[in-house]
Amino acid sequence: MYLKSLTLRGFKSFASSTTLHFEPGITCVVGPNGSGKSNVVDAIAWVMGEQGAKSLRGGKMEDVIFAGTAGRAPLGRAEVVLTIDNTDGALPIDYAEVTISRIMFRNGGSEYSINGRTSRLLDVQELLSDSGIGREMHVIVGQGRLDSILHATPEDRRGFVEEAAGVLKHRKRKEKALRK
Ligand code: ATP
Ligand code: MG
Repeated sequence: MYLKSLTLRGFKSFASSTTLHFEPGITCVVGPNGSGKSNVVDAIAWVMGEQGAKSLRGGKMEDVIFAGTAGRAPLGRAEVVLTIDNTDGALPIDYAEVTISRIMFRNGGSEYSINGRTSRLLDVQELLSDSGIGREMHVIVGQGRLDSILHATPEDRRGFVEEAAGVLKHRKRKEKALRK
């Protein structure tokens, strides 16, 4: 499974329809400050169902819609389409390619679709839940988060590793048991 392409229309600074194509392996997005690199990452989180405006670096959900520039009027809707290669069947759906889309209007909520069929947020979350991506999975490490890991105390850093390895909950249980 890997991300194949991402299309942004009216999402943050991407007023015109813009499609990025990815290959298997590592992709680097490079560009000057403020050119929209983080907005691309925000779009991936958003289309997978992100509900927190803060996680999307905004004050309210509406802030993902293109707000206009000196030469261009604001738009009324944002749309992101993510295509995932599923030839290995990592996603529990009988398609070699899975397309998830999310549209949001200024005056309303979000509409989702999976392979062109109108879906609920819950459907998107369920589709992604066992794949290691999607809700509550720490697959997106923000700029500030990386700093906090680098500047953490050895104890805190050990905590990150334990959390990733899934042993933290066992240590917490052990500590609790020893207190009794
Ligand atoms: P850096 O290298 O500093 O991290 P970056 O490439 O990650 O920069 P982004 O944070 O992705 O840059 O993009 C910031 C730009 O996106 C700003 O110019 C901001 O005005 C613009 N932007 C964010 N939201 C919107 C919006 N809703 N409408 C229009 N422009 C927006
Ligand atoms: Mg950035």
